[in-house]
Amino acid sequence: MLNSKQLSDIIDKFKCIAAQGKVADYIPELSAVNPSYLGAAVVNSDGSLVTAGDSTVYFAIESISKPVVLALALMDNGEQEVFRHMHKEPSGEAFNSIKKLETQADHLPCNPYINAGAIMTTSLIKGNNPDEVFQRIIDFMKKISEDNILTLDTHTYLSEKSTGDTNRGLAYYMKGQGVLGHSVVEDVLDVYFRQCSIMVTVASLAKIARFFASGGILTNGERVIPERYAKIVTGLIATCGMYNQSGEFLDDVGLPGKSGVGGGIICPVPGKNMGLAVFGPALDSEGNSIAGIEILKELSKTLKLNMF
Ligand code: GLN
Repeated sequence: MLNSKQLSDIIDKFKCIAAQGKVADYIPELSAVNPSYLGAAVVNSDGSLVTAGDSTVYFAIESISKPVVLALALMDNGEQEVFRHMHKEPSGEAFNSIKKLETQADHLPCNPYINAGAIMTTSLIKGNNPDEVFQRIIDFMKKISEDNILTLDTHTYLSEKSTGDTNRGLAYYMKGQGVLGHSVVEDVLDVYFRQCSIMVTVASLAKIARFFASGGILTNGERVIPERYAKIVTGLIATCGMYNQSGEFLDDVGLPGKSGVGGGIICPVPGKNMGLAVFGPALDSEGNSIAGIEILKELSKTLKLNMF
């Protein structure tokens, strides 16, 4: 089991790497975040939480919302219906690319973790209007992170909304091809921008990672989603969670990893009921936390977590 001194030493070791990355600047609000923040959290198998570094800083969850919303979409619609709307394969393209949507014969997103797939997933969440849909998403996220103080950051949301034209392009393309159903594009995007702008800490993320690793059970033993759904979410994290770096990450870290351009990465540790999370907003060229990846490699090695 890891203690906070060990975690703190690991963070210190990789602090200098952050200087080689850059904070996301295509969403103006994210460019204002201090690039040298670095924090990590581990939920051990016994449920104990260890944190170190900038672990109390709130940051935007961004794409780490995608597995959470996938779990809720599975609960709302079942497996068959969800995967009638998207595939389960890596895209081999950037997270916001439109290329595959256009070239694939059925015009469906390759997976739920690229932006097109995540927008599609959001369109499958039940609710009578965008407010109700978003409320269901944040309530579900609070439940599985066991963190009641998650909130929407309005500045990030408005920043995403005012600059999200690439996402608009993806959504309108899917609507034009008739694969987004009856959804109103701006309503779906409004929820998508909001889900990305939920503020979390590394501790909330490590708890989400543990939840999926446990097969969908809270620390008090309550089952929230069927084990099968947790396996779908986690399996796709392994193959598609780090975009074009998913293969390399799986080889280097040996665990599923899901990143967000806010600088977070989660690693559920399957079979061990453990969750890891890091936060380092300086990103590499694929949009993944540059120092965060190094911390996860080291943690996996130190704790002997490589699944292979
Ligand atoms: N909100 C971001 C976007 O839509 C999420 C992308 C990410 O975290 N990779 O571009």
